[in-house]
Amino acid sequence: MTDRSYLDWNATAPLRDEAKAALDDALAAAGNPSSVHAEGRAARRVIEAAREQVAALVGARASEVTFTSSGTEANMLALTPAIETATEKRPRSRLLLSAIEHASVRAGGRFPREVVAEIAVDADGRLNVAALADVVTKAPRPLVSLMLANNETGVIQPVAEVAAVVHAAGGLLHVDAVQAVGRIDCDTTALGADLLTLSAHKIGGPRGVGALVRGSEDIHFADPLIRGGGQERGLRAGTENVAGIAGFGAAAVVARRARTADADHMRALRDRLEAGLQAISRQAVIFGADADRLPNTTLFAVPGMKAETAVIAFDLEGVAVSSGAACSSGRVQPSHVLAAMGVSLSLTRGAVRVSLGWTTTAADIEKFLTAWRKLATALSNERQIIAA
Ligand code: PLP
Repeated sequence: MTDRSYLDWNATAPLRDEAKAALDDALAAAGNPSSVHAEGRAARRVIEAAREQVAALVGARASEVTFTSSGTEANMLALTPAIETATEKRPRSRLLLSAIEHASVRAGGRFPREVVAEIAVDADGRLNVAALADVVTKAPRPLVSLMLANNETGVIQPVAEVAAVVHAAGGLLHVDAVQAVGRIDCDTTALGADLLTLSAHKIGGPRGVGALVRGSEDIHFADPLIRGGGQERGLRAGTENVAGIAGFGAAAVVARRARTADADHMRALRDRLEAGLQAISRQAVIFGADADRLPNTTLFAVPGMKAETAVIAFDLEGVAVSSGAACSSGRVQPSHVLAAMGVSLSLTRGAVRVSLGWTTTAADIEKFLTAWRKLATALSNERQIIAA
């Protein structure tokens, strides 16, 4: 599949070489990290080194990092009424979410459905902070969950501003940083995040590993998600995925070192892609174009286009893109993100996401544009036939 152009990095990124090497090394070694013998201690060292590496990526302390099986699980662990701080032990009675969260946050974690409320976004897909402030004052001490960047549009959310509002009301803020980390600056303290979710496979680590980072050691969970052997300081029982965690740590090191250069690289290619896209079809709408966005993500549509047909057409031309979020593909459902932005259902049905990464080349962009020219021509011919 060497002549393929993979432009679906928000679904998953290819494994970085450094992550693969760390993974292979860890797989080759025996040893349960909870065992006291030399093999066990070696496995433990691998995990603790990775914990330091992941913590460093988001400006946290290693003791604040809990490894999980995925970003989804980290979100599930985070979203519980039973979060305690040094000064507040009462359960949280409200969960407030932005209307554009990932399915794993929208599910509400361990909160009863009736205490979960969604806060609107504007037409650019940015959270309406005034609307949140209004609700927060009426729902004292809530847990609020706001993603740092949206997986479909790439629009960056006003997280630090929201943190100030939430904290003033005695609330706590959870930030799903799965799509943002490695692409924009992501510092737990600067963001004001009390909890932060990460996923290894979006930064070049393996699939099936994630982490929940606590903004301070003062934050405790009274109800661990998985009970058993007490691993991960009692928060997440089960023998650790040593190789996966090692790969996550190695990917975090590279992501931290390469972030600025990677972002510049992706932004230049993304700008070329968007200019070409609109030069070929002036009707192409790029969602969130006026907002601050991730440097790698373009979500676009043209009236009359069907996303599933477009994705197949691109695939046949050797270009991998997606229709909305990967987690919801398979079920053809219009994007809740675009619905929240007030985009018409007919345009929403044509939304195609193109997402780039550190190995994307100018040739990949040209290949995408060649395929787009073909598809756009076919679409406009079809329209003329229908109109005739
Ligand atoms: N949060 C966001 C914003 C995502 O985009 C995703 C995956 O696409 C997740 C959470 C879930 O992460 P994982 O695939 O590790 O479960």
